[in-house]
Amino acid sequence: MLIDTHAHLQWPSFDSDRTEVIARAAMKNIMVIVNVGYDLAACRQAIGIAEQHEGVVAAVGIHPHNANTFTDGTLRALRNLAKESKVVAVGEIGLDFYRNLSPNDHQMEAFDRQLALAEDLSLPVVIHQRDAAQETLKVLQGFSGKRTLMHCWSGGLDTASSYVKLGCMISLAGPVTFPNARRLHEVAKNIPISSLVLETDSPWLAPQPYRGRRNEPSFLVSIADAVAELRGVDAQAISDVTTENAKRFDQATHGNKWAEKRSFHFCFVGLWNLTTSVPFFCRYISTAKTTRATTRQYAATLVRARAWVRFSFSAISLWCSSFSRVYLVFNVE
Ligand SMILES: [Zn+2]
Repeated sequence: MLIDTHAHLQWPSFDSDRTEVIARAAMKNIMVIVNVGYDLAACRQAIGIAEQHEGVVAAVGIHPHNANTFTDGTLRALRNLAKESKVVAVGEIGLDFYRNLSPNDHQMEAFDRQLALAEDLSLPVVIHQRDAAQETLKVLQGFSGKRTLMHCWSGGLDTASSYVKLGCMISLAGPVTFPNARRLHEVAKNIPISSLVLETDSPWLAPQPYRGRRNEPSFLVSIADAVAELRGVDAQAISDVTTENAKRFDQATHGNKWAEKRSFHFCFVGLWNLTTSVPFFCRYISTAKTTRATTRQYAATLVRARAWVRFSFSAISLWCSSFSRVYLVFNVE
């Protein structure tokens, strides 16, 4: 099983055959595709597609190219979108000083505010960085939410290692399959395998042998094969490890099982306390009716206190059980 950690299935070039593209990916054992947003419209489309297809989840964020459109309203809209059940990350966000389609200070502000949003909602982040490796690293050093994925890595090994030290995942895309991409080959060979994940960045950057064509998630197999060959291991090993890494990044599978158990636990504790508090209340009422002596009054107060403790505990537990469901993000297995 493989996870494509970055694709843009909302792109118009998929309009005519989106369902077939997702089916082809599933046939190649790509069971999860993270469909990533870059402006508000693309985020809404990403969620829409994720809702229609079981194996697709979404990330919501404003790309640095679109940072000049970022306002308070954008942040509010993103916050609401990020709460949708199929949203697993904030992204793609970051800095792009190569194309500079938005002024640097706008990029910086949009990046900071979206990182704060991710931190606030305990969501991982998907980072786009181009010609801004040091600036991005500096910003991330101040980011306390540590689940960070560097999408479509294009830098050298030294820079990649600095990000790995910070706890970031390095995501390799199609270019790692190009014969002349020596710098990327070094990264693929040498970064710790526990920090490696894979993506297609569809519809762009199709890997060898599809280079120049529209990219799609099923081509992830070629990327996994190339990385396996560079590291001298078999393709299955790369699939297993990168999939585990991606799950760890998304926290979804682990979070799922744990949250499900926790949800049942809270629900059980809540209902049990609720039912057991009823006899205590009844006893209090009957004791209060017949009470005469001081000891009886004392006993009645005690019973009443126990009943209230149980009753509030049951209310808290039931509230927690519904809250835990927020973590039931998506089912990988
Ligand atoms: Zn992208």
